[in-house]
Amino acid sequence: MSKRDYEYFVIGAGSGGVRSARIAASHGAKVGIAEGWDFGGTCVNRGCVPKKLLVYGSKFSKEFKDASGYGWKFLGFRWFKWRDLIRNKDKEINRLTGIYNSLLEDSGVEVHKGYARFIDNHTVEINGKQITADRFLIATGGRPRVPDIPGKEHLKTSDDVFHLPSQPKNVTIIGGGYIAVEFACILAGLGSNVTLINRSETILRGFDSDLQEHLLNEMKAKGIEFKLGCTPDKVTKRGKKTILHTNQGQTIETDLAIVAIGRDPMTDDLGLENTDVQLDQGGKVPTNQNNETSVPHIYAIGDIANDYNLTPVAIEEGHCLADRLFGNMPQRYISYDFIPTAVFSDPPIGTCGMTEEDLIAAGKEYKVYKTSFRPMKHTLSGRQERTFMKLLVCGDSEKVLGVHMIGDDAPEIIQMAGIVLKMGGTKADFDATIGVHPTAAEEFVTMRTAEP
Ligand code: FAD
Ligand code: NDP
Repeated sequence: MSKRDYEYFVIGAGSGGVRSARIAASHGAKVGIAEGWDFGGTCVNRGCVPKKLLVYGSKFSKEFKDASGYGWKFLGFRWFKWRDLIRNKDKEINRLTGIYNSLLEDSGVEVHKGYARFIDNHTVEINGKQITADRFLIATGGRPRVPDIPGKEHLKTSDDVFHLPSQPKNVTIIGGGYIAVEFACILAGLGSNVTLINRSETILRGFDSDLQEHLLNEMKAKGIEFKLGCTPDKVTKRGKKTILHTNQGQTIETDLAIVAIGRDPMTDDLGLENTDVQLDQGGKVPTNQNNETSVPHIYAIGDIANDYNLTPVAIEEGHCLADRLFGNMPQRYISYDFIPTAVFSDPPIGTCGMTEEDLIAAGKEYKVYKTSFRPMKHTLSGRQERTFMKLLVCGDSEKVLGVHMIGDDAPEIIQMAGIVLKMGGTKADFDATIGVHPTAAEEFVTMRTAEP
């Protein structure tokens, strides 16, 4: 039995930390966890979950419009009440946060409410109380990055959007990654005028270029304005308006400027200077494949350590680590191959595996199967939106190395495609599968001719 307070002490009750603590406790370890803010972390309180609720909310404007082609007529006014959406969303998030807290307590994990700081390699301090442990897990996640430019205090982040008292009429979003694109579509769907400015000439860097181009065109068609190759170098205020002064010499006046240019790791106030844990230049905690930091009994998982920044990755890392440490499962490792991911834009993206650009960079011979079509729903709705799908296959066996889709239900469909890629599926496996008719997904099993 350990002489220290805990066998395992987890710092951060977010996606990865909660899972790791619960699993370790289920294996019989004495476990404590510290959370300085809300149980459930980013995903539950300021990320995936509230974001998806706003995505649902934003879709109704489109559905109302599309309904008329199906014979629906609406009498009188329709209007959207931002405050109702935010209030109902908050109620659901409070419910989930409570569940996370009780999940921990019910699994025997001792919960400490407060920020933890390391005093030395085996001790942390929380609210003035010192706690010792044999092993620590750093699972402290990240916070929105704000550029270091004059007037940066006038910029809002994704954290703020979830609690705005009213809906902005005009919004400018800085960034072109997941968060910028998703929030641009949410706010445009809810009726705001949205401008997106990004420093590079495209959006969603690292995604297949066909997806980037298709989404850009669809977002433009919905009235979202783009200023690419553009970044603010100063922010000022004029009355209630925020003014962005850009590197292109323009000024953009907006009701609200949201910055979404990545996230900074939460290591700055962890007291790591009192330990032998080393950080990389960006402040993240590098680890080896066992999730060990430079101090072998201090581990790190999730956004603080990996480059994926996805909830299911943080959860699986935390679960595997606890199984290896306390569950007598030395071979339990996460597999980072073929992680499916989605962008909840309008239309949404689902993607898994290599992009065409990855294949070119890797010098691989490949074939491309693609299709673009107007989904059946829009024959009557009259909407011009198109769905796009792409399969990338390699070698004589035509092994599928990339599946990419943009269109309704792409996030749901890509989850299944992810299983096929994990299993080493080939184009022949897709061809031999009977389609589900009439769906968009059946196009994945009926693409016959590769691009010339
Ligand atoms: P977190 O969930 O961030 O948890 C870290 C916890 O540690 C926090 O609760 C924090 O308060 C706490 N903490 C920090 N320092 C201390 C300390 N010193 N002491 C005690 N507690 C501390 N991912 C997806 O897979 N799908 C999505 O749709 C998706 N949407 C997103 C939307 C937004 C707007 C954002 C911001 C992120 C989104 N993500 C999404 C990413 C996902 O939320 C993160 O990858 C995930 O939450 C990372 O989990 P984690 O355990 O590493 O950290
Ligand atoms: P991303 O890394 O996805 O995108 C950052 C964007 O900001 C890029 O467009 C980048 O430009 C730009 N940028 C980066 N640095 C600067 C700078 N200094 N000045 C101006 N622009 C800059 O970050 P996000 O904040 O959008 O999201 C953080 C992470 O959260 C994501 O990477 C993702 O892993 C996770 N997430 C996942 C979601 C999901 O699964 N659906 C949803 C939301 C978040 P450039 O084009 O040059 O690269």
